[in-house]
Amino acid sequence: MRSAIWFRNDLRVFDNPALSHCCANSEEVIAIYIISPTQWENHHDAKVKISLWIRSLLSLQKELEKLNIPLLILESNKYQNISSDLYGLLKEKNCKNLYFNNEYPVNELKRDRSIYKEFKEKDIGVFTFHDQVIHPPGTLKTKAGGNFSVYSPFKRKWFEQLTEEQLKLYDVPKPKATININGASLSSFEKDFSTSLDGLWAVGEENIQDQVKEFLSKKGMAYKDDRNFPSIDGCSKISPYLNSGVISPKWCLLEAKKYNNNLLDEGDRGIVHWVSEILWREFYRHIIYNFPKVSMNQPFLSYTDNLKWSDNKEHLERWKAGRTGIPIVDAGIREMINTGWMHNRLRMIVAMFLSKNLLIDWREGEKFFMENLIDGDIASNNGGWQWSASTGTDAAPYFRIMNPETQSIKFDAKGKYIKKWIPELADCPIDEIHMPTEPLKYNYYEPIVDLKESRKQAIDAFGELRKD
Ligand SMILES: Cc1cc2nc3c(=O)[nH]c(=O)nc-3n(C[C@H](O)[C@H](O)[C@H](O)COP(=O)(O)OP(=O)(O)OC[C@H]3O[C@@H](n4cnc5c(N)ncnc54)[C@H](O)[C@@H]3O)c2cc1C
Repeated sequence: MRSAIWFRNDLRVFDNPALSHCCANSEEVIAIYIISPTQWENHHDAKVKISLWIRSLLSLQKELEKLNIPLLILESNKYQNISSDLYGLLKEKNCKNLYFNNEYPVNELKRDRSIYKEFKEKDIGVFTFHDQVIHPPGTLKTKAGGNFSVYSPFKRKWFEQLTEEQLKLYDVPKPKATININGASLSSFEKDFSTSLDGLWAVGEENIQDQVKEFLSKKGMAYKDDRNFPSIDGCSKISPYLNSGVISPKWCLLEAKKYNNNLLDEGDRGIVHWVSEILWREFYRHIIYNFPKVSMNQPFLSYTDNLKWSDNKEHLERWKAGRTGIPIVDAGIREMINTGWMHNRLRMIVAMFLSKNLLIDWREGEKFFMENLIDGDIASNNGGWQWSASTGTDAAPYFRIMNPETQSIKFDAKGKYIKKWIPELADCPIDEIHMPTEPLKYNYYEPIVDLKESRKQAIDAFGELRKD
């Protein structure tokens, strides 16, 4: 019997439940990846991210060849056509079953639910699995039976309900019978989407596994302290690979245990903290599943939609260009534009600056991040933005606004990070680097807002909101 595995955000052969089950239950297997440029556009996916995914697909294709599994590409431009296009391909290739790992944003859920129903009513078995999370969304409940919207109790429940079984890894499957179907050529996609930043981002399952091991062995223990300082190379930079599924979160957690006496929630404070960040990622996946409105462009706290956001286009454009005149903010944006990635501390600083000091709708920032980040991820990006804008789950209280200058003094005391990304300020003395008194002297910019005044305006605007 022949079956198909549909790869989505799980571009790996190791610890891939859908692939393992598909191979265990079928003599012959084909792999499918759906390329949908309109979907990329609708999601505002960054070119550097698409390029990484295509390069990762090429690497996956080579791994699959060793298993005698050809990788086919289905180009389906309209979201609504995916189901019929996929069905057509499965019939053409004589596949009896379809296997895939779940996705949780609202449109993906809708698509998968209708595929599940339609294909079963026809003549194709559909088998789905959870690989992006350890606890499937919907299975962790508060005492009152509701869904968690606060991280700490979510995390407690996550550990309480964890079983050994849930942390079992799936080995790379054994090779299948050979079939007479050629794999697709990805070279034109690779060419069309290549970017000047590609060289910064390695691909390949083993390479990325090595990156995680190297991080855990050399930087894991110092992570809790170092992770806040953007000029220190103190975090793992694995977000692009968790999101494309080149590595699984489960494998990451098990690796972390190896460096922490087989423990996850106690022991070394650095490793324990890293584990808790992986769980933040899982938390936001539960959030978009349990509260679908957040992936429909709506705030978790509905009343915050009454806020009168500023439509100052010049402010928005200067924020996007890294020309606000606030060095730490501009450095963060420029890091993203020049690498596809931004340090977490900076993501919080620039997001708060946009949504509070500039009082610009967080959705503008959310979109701009997606357009530029190599790790752009609907759940984590939305969670981070709504946290920063005080519109989301477990969000920062609206009156606790990070002051970018104070953050800069605290987390980039020597201005190393600022100088790296703002060459204009290379000669600016250290006691001025966080807020130069004569910025034009360096060909830099005057601040677009007064930090104290704009902070007060934001607090007033949020304070006036009615919660009913
Ligand atoms: C406004 C804003 C937007 C964000 N947008 C994204 C996004 O689009 N994609 C994305 O993957 N992360 C996003 N994050 C979360 C976080 O900034 C990145 O995951 C992290 O910087 C990635 O770097 P790292 O792999 O070195 O993380 P590490 O510090 O090494 O952490 C390990 C992993 O834990 C997860 N993680 C860490 N911090 C968070 C967090 N705050 N929320 C959710 N998961 C986390 C990531 O998967 C990360 O790879 C955003 C945060 C904010 C404040």
